[in-house]
Amino acid sequence: MFKEVYDDNSIPMDVFRFHTISQIQAKESGEIVDMVGIIFQSSNPNEITARNGDKVFRKNLTLYDASLQVIDITLWGQSCKVNFEKNKMIIFKNLKVGQYLGKKCLVSISRTVVITKDFPMHVKEVREIAELLEEKSTRQEVEKKNNQRYLLLDLINMQPNLRKSERHYFEVTASIIHIQSDSLSTFYYLSCPRDNCLKKVVDISVDCWKCLNCHEITRTPKPRYTLNMMISDFSGSLWVNAFDSIGESILGHPASHLKHLRESERDDDKQELMRIMKNPTSKEFNMRLMMKHEEYKGREEWKGSILKISPLEYQDEAKKALQLLGSLELQ
Ligand SMILES: [Zn+2]
Repeated sequence: MFKEVYDDNSIPMDVFRFHTISQIQAKESGEIVDMVGIIFQSSNPNEITARNGDKVFRKNLTLYDASLQVIDITLWGQSCKVNFEKNKMIIFKNLKVGQYLGKKCLVSISRTVVITKDFPMHVKEVREIAELLEEKSTRQEVEKKNNQRYLLLDLINMQPNLRKSERHYFEVTASIIHIQSDSLSTFYYLSCPRDNCLKKVVDISVDCWKCLNCHEITRTPKPRYTLNMMISDFSGSLWVNAFDSIGESILGHPASHLKHLRESERDDDKQELMRIMKNPTSKEFNMRLMMKHEEYKGREEWKGSILKISPLEYQDEAKKALQLLGSLELQ
């Protein structure tokens, strides 16, 4: 004879609070989420030396899920040894939300479950998501979205609909048309030399500056770029800023060198400054832009800054175009 018994509620069950990647985009840094996704890309583990001298492994995974978005996850330690095959389904428990270069990312802080098709059937959401992810069209959609770039005209047209309280990020391919460097414009500022500060300094006497932020007094302020430039693609053009490290990668010289050329009386130096400022113009770059709404002296506007820039590699572009063509099957 069998007697029915009830579940013992004192035994803790594995509780997952699954979030889709699109839900994670709205989370604050530091929040903890669980997710289920499919492996899109997996890097080789690399060894990092921690501050205390310990060696630890780190690995990056890119996942996509049923919300058709991708996200990067950083793994540490033992988890890096797991063989993460592309297109395998994976469940993560306890991922910490973070942000890098304006993109949401995740760091794994505990257990990872890699599975193929025999996922735990009792987790209903997982089963539903898995079924959706099985579809080839989902995968193609993700590939397409991952390569999505915006035209500058789209950015301009979208501005009235963007939420003013948030920062917005876009990938574009554009040329640099003009970098402001005439005698009236400042393309650099003098900054506090302290590593964690870098704020503007003001001169308080001859060869002596004071930081407005940390009040450090210095005789050696560091010039840093604040480039103002016009970028353009076939659809339109836009004024954007580029700050120090981006400015340096565009111009190929540190701001201190260009400051020296600007202040020089020699004709050679003046010509050299012009040559450096002109050098990047008319070349094409892939850029990651951040758009931020600002109010200044009663004027409201969207300001764009370049967060990442790399010259257009024509071979890569051709490869991407071929991949896209290959994914368009004849019906
Ligand atoms: Zn300072």
